[in-house]
Amino acid sequence: NVRKKNLCWYQVASPQSALFLLTGIGLGVLVREYAGLSQLDKQYFGFPGEILMRMLKLVILPLIISSMITGVAALDSEVSGKIGLCAVIYYFSTTIIAVILGIILVTTIKPGVSQSADNIDRAGTTPNVTTVDTLLDLVRNMFPENLVQACFQQYKTQRKELEPSSSNTSTNTATTTFPPFSTIMNLTKEYTIVGAYSDGINVLGIIVFCVAFGLVIGKMGERGRILLEFFDALNEATMRLVQIIMCYMPVGILFLIAAKIIEVDDWDIFRKMGLYMVTVLSGLAIHAVVFLPLIYFIFVRKNPYTFALGMAQALVTALMISSSSATLPVTFRCAEENNRVDKRITRFVLPVGATINMDGTALYEAVAAIFIAQLNGLDLDAGQIVTISITATVASIGAAGVPNAGLVTMVIVLTAVGLPASDVTLIVAVDWLIDRFRTMINVLGDAFGAGIVQKLSKRELERMDLTSDVDVANP
Ligand code: ASP
Repeated sequence: NVRKKNLCWYQVASPQSALFLLTGIGLGVLVREYAGLSQLDKQYFGFPGEILMRMLKLVILPLIISSMITGVAALDSEVSGKIGLCAVIYYFSTTIIAVILGIILVTTIKPGVSQSADNIDRAGTTPNVTTVDTLLDLVRNMFPENLVQACFQQYKTQRKELEPSSSNTSTNTATTTFPPFSTIMNLTKEYTIVGAYSDGINVLGIIVFCVAFGLVIGKMGERGRILLEFFDALNEATMRLVQIIMCYMPVGILFLIAAKIIEVDDWDIFRKMGLYMVTVLSGLAIHAVVFLPLIYFIFVRKNPYTFALGMAQALVTALMISSSSATLPVTFRCAEENNRVDKRITRFVLPVGATINMDGTALYEAVAAIFIAQLNGLDLDAGQIVTISITATVASIGAAGVPNAGLVTMVIVLTAVGLPASDVTLIVAVDWLIDRFRTMINVLGDAFGAGIVQKLSKRELERMDLTSDVDVANP
């Protein structure tokens, strides 16, 4: 069995992942209770986890570029068109289902009705960000003006009025280093929400470029083949690196979770926000355990839970690092190695999914917006609920696959129904925890999507296998 020979034992065995997770929690609790670490010591303690994050982020760029280009070029345009269409329909329908589920739960449980917003601390001022700005920035970033810059560009807004007045640049744009996520207000005040960005990489812009580039290479015949083989080799080399990184994963994960447990100051907030968290988490759980598996089963007719188990390593990673983009290398490996999803599908569907398909984020945005309305004692009418479902969908598409991105794009949903955007501060304290779970559902949604698209494109893929002599995507 080639698969087992190539993999570390814990890549295929999910109980071990859970073991490392639990050990991390235990270690965190012990150190927190008994070690009395200083701020600096805590930083040292989190170092092995930090290294894991850095390694995962490091491979995002070569992975996305090589997988998208080879993925698109290896398919003929009819097949890639069909795969793209199936993927987009899947992304939209599952996101809408997630939003509706969230709305049903939050209007039934009413987590915000018993409290008033004044009981929870608010801070900051209302940032001036509109849905139109966000959408325009999103589209703008699909067309980067400079490819090299798009690979390391920092968070950037194109809106003139958001330029810092003290800026010493004479351009129209304000480019600033992406800040640590200290407070939500820092982000919303100073940056438009540019969902294309992930850890300084303009992922959406790069994806658009790679799709176009891949299509062109695919049509170039013999001369295109040189480039295709280059990117295919790059992809293989990157995946080998990912395999090495995954061997370090248990240690990194253990320290990531332990360090987080040591760092959190206010555990009491979870009691205060209990019902809100229960609403979001139960929505995410229902979506993951009922709806996504059901949709998968309807189309694929295979056990969805076996498929989900195959993704365990990616799900645990998402839970630990709250970033779909940084989880992408692991998502690829799990989908291809454990679940045997065709590389021609994963290369196309997973990077796009990690950027725009966020069921967990959409559900969370809808729940959080209605929760905030309830806290403010506001009765939302049907029109406002519809507005929330539409803007929550847009906001989830616009959110980048990085930690807390959904919290930032919340501003769109709030302003759309006339709530003060600064009220995102009401939910910021628990976001680090909710973010982990919604990221997990985002990743699961992408993976099921790849499985479904593979099934729907089976005939086309088989036809391609028969007609092409060399299969570059699956050498
Ligand atoms: N952290 C999420 C992700 O990477 C995005 C969000 O904040 O909802 O998928």
